[in-house]
Amino acid sequence: MTSTAETGSSQQTVRVAVAVPLDRTFDYNHSGLGALPRGTIVSVPFGPRQLNGIVLGPGDGAIAATTLKPVTGVAPLPPLPPTFVDFLERVASWTMAPIGGVVKMALSQPQALQPPPQRKVYRRPDPPPVDESLTAARRRVAEVLEVAGALSAADLQREAGVSAGVITAMAKTGGLDTLLVSDSTPPPRPHSVAGPPPTPDQTAAMREITANLAAGFTPMLLDGVTGSGKTEVYFDAVESVVAAGRQALILLPEIALSVAWKQRFQDRFGVPPTEWHSDVAPGRKRRAWRHIALGEASVVVGARSALFLPFSDLGLIVVDEEHEHAYKQEEQVTYHARDMAILRARLQNCPAILATATPSLESWVNAGKVGDPPRYRHISLPQRVGEAQLPEIAAVDLRRTPPERGRWLAPPLVEAITARLEAGEQSLLFLNRRGYAPLTLCGACGHKVTCPNCDSWMVMHRLAGRLKCHHCGYEARPQRGCVECGEEDSMQACGPGVERLAEEVLQRFPEARFAVFSSDTVTTPGSAESFVRSVVDGEVDIIIGTQMAAKGHHFPNLTLVGIVDADLGLAGGDLRAAERSFQMLAQVAGRAGRATRPGLALLQTMDSTNPVMEALLSGDRDRFLKAEAESRRIAGMPPFARLASLVLSAPDPQRLQAAMQAIDASRPHYHGVDIFGPSMAPLGFLRGRHRGRALVRADKTVDIQAVIAAWLEAASLPSGVRLQVDIDPYSFL
Ligand code: ADP
Ligand code: ZN
Repeated sequence: MTSTAETGSSQQTVRVAVAVPLDRTFDYNHSGLGALPRGTIVSVPFGPRQLNGIVLGPGDGAIAATTLKPVTGVAPLPPLPPTFVDFLERVASWTMAPIGGVVKMALSQPQALQPPPQRKVYRRPDPPPVDESLTAARRRVAEVLEVAGALSAADLQREAGVSAGVITAMAKTGGLDTLLVSDSTPPPRPHSVAGPPPTPDQTAAMREITANLAAGFTPMLLDGVTGSGKTEVYFDAVESVVAAGRQALILLPEIALSVAWKQRFQDRFGVPPTEWHSDVAPGRKRRAWRHIALGEASVVVGARSALFLPFSDLGLIVVDEEHEHAYKQEEQVTYHARDMAILRARLQNCPAILATATPSLESWVNAGKVGDPPRYRHISLPQRVGEAQLPEIAAVDLRRTPPERGRWLAPPLVEAITARLEAGEQSLLFLNRRGYAPLTLCGACGHKVTCPNCDSWMVMHRLAGRLKCHHCGYEARPQRGCVECGEEDSMQACGPGVERLAEEVLQRFPEARFAVFSSDTVTTPGSAESFVRSVVDGEVDIIIGTQMAAKGHHFPNLTLVGIVDADLGLAGGDLRAAERSFQMLAQVAGRAGRATRPGLALLQTMDSTNPVMEALLSGDRDRFLKAEAESRRIAGMPPFARLASLVLSAPDPQRLQAAMQAIDASRPHYHGVDIFGPSMAPLGFLRGRHRGRALVRADKTVDIQAVIAAWLEAASLPSGVRLQVDIDPYSFL
């Protein structure tokens, strides 16, 4: 039996994960506040501040309740669902991020925890005062309210064209009533507006998904070629979930959250979805957060951070473009939104749909495609909708038919573009490189212009007249002469970026209308929308674009895709280079021929026998995935093993060396675990910090987090050294 003192204290104390990036929880006294169940959102004193936190459970009773600081407030919201709190704890332990950092993401809108602000509005008394005599201005106010019902002073001033004085005076004499309303009208509920009649493939896919919607946790890989109508298929599932009164979350890579996508949603459901991404204004975010927590928002579409929203009754998660590397968050809490979506669906016991035309190797293996038993259902849409055919893909051998010196478009590609221009069709030239030239070099001494903060070249941006570092954002004015050897006019631009291609297009096709589509030219959702519209409306003949142009757009009159440097993505040679390159090139090729006219994609390459090029040229994606899986299996790499990276960084190199030695000295030795490094990272200097790295590879049966935790426990790092653990890294720089 426990002593009364102990029982008493644990009943009055709660363990709180406070929204600060610390890897521990804190106990607080909550006497007088009643029971605070797990998931209750509280505010607590934390040093000199008041912070929000989430109750995880009773305090551990180690410290007497009376000596603990008190919980100072309880948010007027229902407690977060237990499965959501489980999710936050599991994310923290999986990613090895501090629990407080994960809680901070979940409570990203502190103002949403307060009751929604109230607004003062005016309306006409009913009935109006009998002996009223209205001036012209007051009559206008009365007329506007006749129609509008109630309006704020600002709206009323604008609509009736009166001054603030008219409104206050009218209220004082009883001509207007004032009342307070909360500005939190729940979003309208989606209802179904019939989509296009589904094709037989779509019908089969919809049936299979519907059959699994009530079956609890069921991951499904919706694998359909570009333009096969995957969106309509998952909309159908969303419709069923909403009809059952539950909530659905659709994750999209940020870049794909286009106006066009939202329009499709609106066309299909009669109302816009609740949005969650970096472009949503704070006020809208605050309202959205509450509506989601209170179960009033039925469908949320968002970027990866939407995974940390407090849904009260989540019934389905869709991850569109599941292969996208943009789902990996590299800062603070490093997590992969697709993987965490599966985790959330499992804890929530709800289905998850992963949609893609180019499955990630992870999902492909999970779908049982390389011999391992399937853990996901595989649902396929092998054909494009309607008359559209998949594009023909051909190689342009840069060794046999190279472009002229200083140019980047080889003769066969130039010929194909010319033919499209003559036929009044559009072309897309794809080069995943922003700016004008990736390198500026002195022709006399060979000096290269590099970033002062990073181990990287400065990229020439001619439109902006700047040199830019794509790693840290540092900018400088280009010099004509060499700062190293003093030679005048010796600096030369080397290699192409999209701006340089535009220059070549202008020289070769002076009559053609072209536009550059990159994150430098298209910076807001609005400008992306007008760009897409101008292409759809036929105002552009040649699009020159980076990966921004590769994703999700539907350009019916685009029949040629020219991939200017198909080998570019393979250059780094990291674990996922081949997979990533294949996905990117297949996606961009898939922009061609999406309507009635047939499409052609031309890949400019130095090596058309490379497995990635061969797979693209033969259209045999599955064989590529199989070969890629095989080589990963042989190498003992993910998805057949586990991988983590430890990145150490410090402002001065001595400290980094000391930290690397400390890590090295305490390196563990376990069966089934290999440790590479620590050594200098390939990007040894980034944003003013020197960087070292170790990679941990472990067999699938090993608890890699436990191995790393024990290792770090044993190593003591010098102060000023930052350590970032990245489980399942996607970046190897
Ligand atoms: P995916 O996501 O597989 O690339 P989408 O869902 O974007 O494909 O569909 C491609 C195009 O085909 C879109 O313009 C869409 O409106 C249209 N579409 C989808 N399903 C049908 C259908 N059953 N009948 C007619 N058009 C359809
Ligand atoms: Zn830099």
